[in-house]
Amino acid sequence: MIFFGNKSRPFDWGPYPLERLKRDPRITPSESAKPKIDRPNGRTPPGGVLAAAVAQYHDLFRRLQSNDTLPPKAPVPDDLGPRTTDLKGFGYFLDVAQIGICEMPENAWLADAAPLPHSHAIVLVQRHGRMPEPENLAHAWCKDVAEEAAELRAFEVAMILAQYIRSLGFEAKAHDYAKGLVDIERLAVLAGVANRAKNAITNPYLGGDFSVTVVTTEYEIASDQPLAEGVRNGKDLGYWLGFNGAVPGLEWRRREKRRSDLGIYPMEQVDRVDEPTTLVFEDEVPRSPRRAEFFMRARFGDLGDKAKREMARMPTKTAFSMAIGNLIRGMIPYQDGQISPGNPGYENGEANSKAIKSLSYFLGSEITGICEIPDYAWYSHSVDGASIDTDHRYAVVMLIDQGYDTMEGASGDDWVSVAQSMRAYMRGAEIAGVMSEMLRGLGFSSRSHTNAYSDVVHNPLVLMSGLGEMSRIGDTLLNPFIGPRLKTVVLTTNMPLEPDKPIDFGLQNFCGSCFKCARECPCDAITWGDKSIFNGYEIWKPDVERCVRYRITNAKGAACGRCMKTCPLNKVVTWEGPIMTRIASWFGVNQRWAKPFLIPIAVWLDDALRHGVRNPVKKWWFDLEVVDGAVVAPRIGTNERDLDLDHKIDPEEQKIAIYPANRMPPPDQADPVVVDRKEALQVILETPVEALARRARAEPRPEHCKPTPPVLDEGERFRGLGDGATQWVGKPGEREPSAN
Ligand code: SF4
Ligand code: SF4
Repeated sequence: MIFFGNKSRPFDWGPYPLERLKRDPRITPSESAKPKIDRPNGRTPPGGVLAAAVAQYHDLFRRLQSNDTLPPKAPVPDDLGPRTTDLKGFGYFLDVAQIGICEMPENAWLADAAPLPHSHAIVLVQRHGRMPEPENLAHAWCKDVAEEAAELRAFEVAMILAQYIRSLGFEAKAHDYAKGLVDIERLAVLAGVANRAKNAITNPYLGGDFSVTVVTTEYEIASDQPLAEGVRNGKDLGYWLGFNGAVPGLEWRRREKRRSDLGIYPMEQVDRVDEPTTLVFEDEVPRSPRRAEFFMRARFGDLGDKAKREMARMPTKTAFSMAIGNLIRGMIPYQDGQISPGNPGYENGEANSKAIKSLSYFLGSEITGICEIPDYAWYSHSVDGASIDTDHRYAVVMLIDQGYDTMEGASGDDWVSVAQSMRAYMRGAEIAGVMSEMLRGLGFSSRSHTNAYSDVVHNPLVLMSGLGEMSRIGDTLLNPFIGPRLKTVVLTTNMPLEPDKPIDFGLQNFCGSCFKCARECPCDAITWGDKSIFNGYEIWKPDVERCVRYRITNAKGAACGRCMKTCPLNKVVTWEGPIMTRIASWFGVNQRWAKPFLIPIAVWLDDALRHGVRNPVKKWWFDLEVVDGAVVAPRIGTNERDLDLDHKIDPEEQKIAIYPANRMPPPDQADPVVVDRKEALQVILETPVEALARRARAEPRPEHCKPTPPVLDEGERFRGLGDGATQWVGKPGEREPSAN
């Protein structure tokens, strides 16, 4: 925070200082005695391509609401305090602005609704997105859609929370204005997140710029008190300065004052370069099939039966990830679709790029960049063995922050880890899905590429669009402002756009002197050695097989992100974070001459300040595991790691298994192609110096850069994954007949 640390602010208090507002319990009986209301007439739905895309996703989420039979009750405590911390924490983790809880009075059901036997309501407040400036093309797309776009985000959270509560064995239902069963305004007043004004409700921090959804449930949780009537404006000095560790009002204002296409991070201050800071021999990078990715190989059985079983279970290994995964799967068919007849007026690539970036921030992206798609960044074949067309020229690449506070509370490989990834994947799929639907509505061929289904390899696009540099972690690029704490989503399109350039913020020097991720990796998958050339890229080559195997089979948690958590660049560098971090970040980006002196100090200081240990104040979640559809206490336990300062490996002794292109499985082979780790440990890669010398001698690329060819004849394809242990979920554009 600007002057006050937020280390001691419990995460379930949320980003706004709601705890400082005056409350009045007398409002509960008076509000509960009023007559029921009819369903509000609501707004006239806005027109336009963005409104249509948002409405399509909102409808989709409504259809995904589950009414399945409840599983057995989970072993949650009877104490309402921890229950409420867990639920509010999950809501804030999913990025709502404010949450209030109240008991459910009879008159909060709409007059025409059959009341459900639910005792409590969880009210979710979402702030409206930042409106693009009138001269920005995106203004016309967004100007009437702020309420609907924020409501979509709030409804997404309501859906996930309801699904989560149901997986604990308790009834729950998500409600929105148009189709829900409850009086949302009454519940917002009772739950202490709004006051009644003349004809509407108002929020002390957001005025009228917010949307609300509700979850009703039979799950008993602690209620909040209504706000006192006089509390119209909470923006006092404490708000502006961030008392109690809340996000300071000055930070909210800083964000509002930046140009809408720039986002909240000053990426415009970072040095731009013509070529990435690591070598890419474009003519040597093989196009790889999706079948060759290690998580996919595990699904096909290439890593053995145990890994295959655990991989099928991984997305549903915790109640959080199970709830989020429901939405991720549901969005796959909407990643592609029909293109409307062409819409003139979008010939200016620069103006289009600004508008697309503003739109991405309006919908919730953290940082957005644009590049032309190099041919090698397209996968060669999709997961069913079909070859992939390189049909779009541009990629809009978006980073989604995995959330600092939750990472601070976690070990990085405990029971919340997989949900951190999936939350970011889900948010990305929603943003890119809405954007690509909108672009198709404007007449441009466009498709979103998510963790669930992608035709493009994301890392080279992050590199080329200037959002990150290659790091020691190997498969994760680091951004100067959110470090490694990111997941990506990509939108490809033929709309004319203006590409960004790669960036240089000195990371190659930093990672050259810092080994913290390698030291803290639980399975020594990150190299302690130097960079080499792998499939045409200069890279600190990690042992991907070992990393993936650990993430899949982690018995005391779900997945892993310890390298991200412990990296010194995993920091909050806005006015939400400590002042010293902001100063260090500014120096790192703007005073690059100081880097040689500062890096060793920064690396030492990071350990000395114990950055990377768990902060118990930030742990909001229950450690629970899902076994055969039931939520149970973890069977083996929970990883509880902090820092391992003495761990060190001699790079000469470290064993890194390498599977280059010629050791990939055929792109269209459904049967397992079991990895040969012994052989992979023998592979020797060129150093960058050796590769440059070879190329200077005009010698061809090494044999191992040549991908394994298909085994089936052209046109012959398989459907499904091997023995059917993992269900095929359909492709983008393949929608169920009843859906639009
Ligand atoms: Fe190691 Fe975990 Fe990072 Fe993989 S995700 S490299 S296992 S720390
Ligand atoms: Fe680079 Fe250090 Fe972060 Fe690893 S922990 S990615 S070496 S800065």
